[in-house]
Amino acid sequence: MGNDEIFEDYSPPPYQDPDMEEESTINERFSWILLWIMTFRIRFNIPETATESLIKFMKLVLVEIGGEDFSKFPNSLYLARKILGLKDRFRILVPCPKCHKLYERQEVINFRQDDISAVMKCHHIEFPNSNHHKSRSCKMALSQKIATTIRPELEFPLASIQQQLGAMFRRPNFEYSLRHWANRQQTDNILTDIYDGQVWKNFKKTNEEDSPKFFRNDVADSHLGLMLNLDWFQPYDGTVHSTGVIYAAICNLPRDIRFKRENMLILGILPGPNEVRLHKINHYLAPIVDELMSLWAV
Ligand SMILES: [Zn+2]
Repeated sequence: MGNDEIFEDYSPPPYQDPDMEEESTINERFSWILLWIMTFRIRFNIPETATESLIKFMKLVLVEIGGEDFSKFPNSLYLARKILGLKDRFRILVPCPKCHKLYERQEVINFRQDDISAVMKCHHIEFPNSNHHKSRSCKMALSQKIATTIRPELEFPLASIQQQLGAMFRRPNFEYSLRHWANRQQTDNILTDIYDGQVWKNFKKTNEEDSPKFFRNDVADSHLGLMLNLDWFQPYDGTVHSTGVIYAAICNLPRDIRFKRENMLILGILPGPNEVRLHKINHYLAPIVDELMSLWAV
């Protein structure tokens, strides 16, 4: 190959800012009741079914006494979470089962041919340097048509980093924990954690010669170092089906809490059924990198 080699295009559908999505409005008249129920549920470890019954009962009481004003009070735990903004918002992309190119879910579901809903085919060019015309585009079916419904073959849920970080920053002591590394005791010449390494110490905000360091005391709780990981596991007994989870640890946090579940960012869930070949993971990382880039620009 000469210098004119073209690389496979890993770009995902355009990034959508989660803030652009419709926000549920919180009705101030009853949001405190929902907050009380959710706190009660956590405090006494109430199961979901019991919480659901309590919410339904509360609605009956409120509508009985307060009338139509309370008709918007939720009648399920799902709706209560949605109103309180506790629901995880996943963006779902559809990967090609063969080449792993990602597509917008709505585009796949709403695809039409001759004005009839139809199965959309992958139009990704996996080997842009190949001379064989026939083998150029992938053409794999991205969905199945069952009766009149289009169902994607695979789904790739992406969790918003911004939303998860927002929830973490609302927790008491979270910012304090993020500053821990800047206030820690240092012992010369002993490497005890990532902060003692050259990357953490010398990483610059920009490529310019006089750029300030990225990790420094005055921004110790807002300039975050994320460590990305991908783990494969088998969620089902008796069948070989691998699912991959892409997640990130926040290196600013002290090591004893850095890898706790509540402090990890879930970035995306790879659908399987097989482990994706290494270079194909680029497709799944691309939308995550896009969101990280948009956060970097903030
Ligand atoms: Zn494909």
